[in-house]
Amino acid sequence: MKIRKGKFLSRGIRLHDMKFLAKDIPIEVMPAPEIISISLGQHIGKPAVPVVKEGDFVYQGQLIAQADGVVSANVYSSVSGTVEGFEKRPVANGAIKDYILIRNDGNYMYRPLDPLPDRNKETVIARIREAGIVGMGGAGFPTAVKLAPKQTPDTLVINGAECEPYLTCDYRLMVEKTDEVAQGIRLIAKALGVTKIVVGIEKNKPDCIEKFASYEDFEIVVLRKAYPMGSEKHLIYSCTGRKVPVGKLPSDVGCVVNNIATAYAVYEAVELDKPLFERVMTVSGKAIVHPANLLVKNGTRFDDIITHCGGLRDTTAMLVSGGPMMGPCMISTDLYSGKTDSGILALDSSETDSRNPSPCINCGACAEVCPMHLLPMMIDFYTQARDYQKAREVGGVDNCISCGCCSYVCPARRAIVQSITLCKQKLASKG
Ligand code: SF4
Ligand code: SF4
Repeated sequence: MKIRKGKFLSRGIRLHDMKFLAKDIPIEVMPAPEIISISLGQHIGKPAVPVVKEGDFVYQGQLIAQADGVVSANVYSSVSGTVEGFEKRPVANGAIKDYILIRNDGNYMYRPLDPLPDRNKETVIARIREAGIVGMGGAGFPTAVKLAPKQTPDTLVINGAECEPYLTCDYRLMVEKTDEVAQGIRLIAKALGVTKIVVGIEKNKPDCIEKFASYEDFEIVVLRKAYPMGSEKHLIYSCTGRKVPVGKLPSDVGCVVNNIATAYAVYEAVELDKPLFERVMTVSGKAIVHPANLLVKNGTRFDDIITHCGGLRDTTAMLVSGGPMMGPCMISTDLYSGKTDSGILALDSSETDSRNPSPCINCGACAEVCPMHLLPMMIDFYTQARDYQKAREVGGVDNCISCGCCSYVCPARRAIVQSITLCKQKLASKG
């Protein structure tokens, strides 16, 4: 058994994790609604291209949209039924994406992928690509691309931190599907051609640490409970002591990072020939009647998920898609679940801060906690002054990981992350 402590991170913040609301609730399969709306852009890169037309019958597990190039991902139907049509819809962050509408016939006639003849590096990567697997921690980067880095890695780092408060979907997978997740991890290691597997787990999950420590081929790193411990660069440092330089990738220091849900999806794709069309989501917060960990079919309306959990309490003050630190606030529940949706949170006034922002008092708290050693107040200042280039030069906005630590600690309640997002968008639009 190889267990050791992770390296200390001097920055970041300590949060009330609030996981007690859902952590002991087993994964429950949520029945799919009558209408499913599946996004063609559930990943970073080009949207997938539809391969079905209105009126077609589709099986559960049937390819309905094909990856458009290398940085893209296949999309599969999560139910059997009839293609009702195509529509454009907003996602939680306000971007408009294309969707395929499917009327669920309730029969779940399932068509798996063809069985894999063998499991070597090439066939496993090809299967991961075929199954449409993307990073399910939220990034949505196509996993097959991540598994073929330019620099040859020597270490696979598995992110078992789940450092966002409230979210327990990865925790439940680690507890309930331990062997399956472990098999998925080994398959990712095989695809990478590495033998060193490091699993980083926050110390608030002792049961997971104990379970994963029973596998002789894994090295378990017990991570300090800190946010954002799950950020790739910080996880790599804490697990291996290697520092990923600014502007470089994990593979530049010999590492590739994957998360728990992705490992589970890899297991299902390779061992069960199942493409990615459903995932575990946490529904939590004090304003949801029955917190839950649900296995949700892609394309399920958030409103239906909330109704399945007993609905919202009258005290609801804010709805969030994903974790409270990085997830966007929702102005509507007329949204549809996808591969990267880890949760829905309904928060009451005791869990939110509705005070209005006031001028910066130059206290420096945001810079003190910034895990990327940036000057968040400068990014905010220059963005408000519409001098985005200065926000880049002085504040270092390009290296921001949008973790939200700066906004969280700001006594003036400055909306720093919103400034950062705006600044990044403006810089990107200028090329
Ligand atoms: S500036 Fe970016 S990286 Fe630094 S604390 Fe704020 S959101 Fe996080
Ligand atoms: S924490 Fe808020 S008030 Fe303090 S320096 Fe940063 S932006 Fe200004």
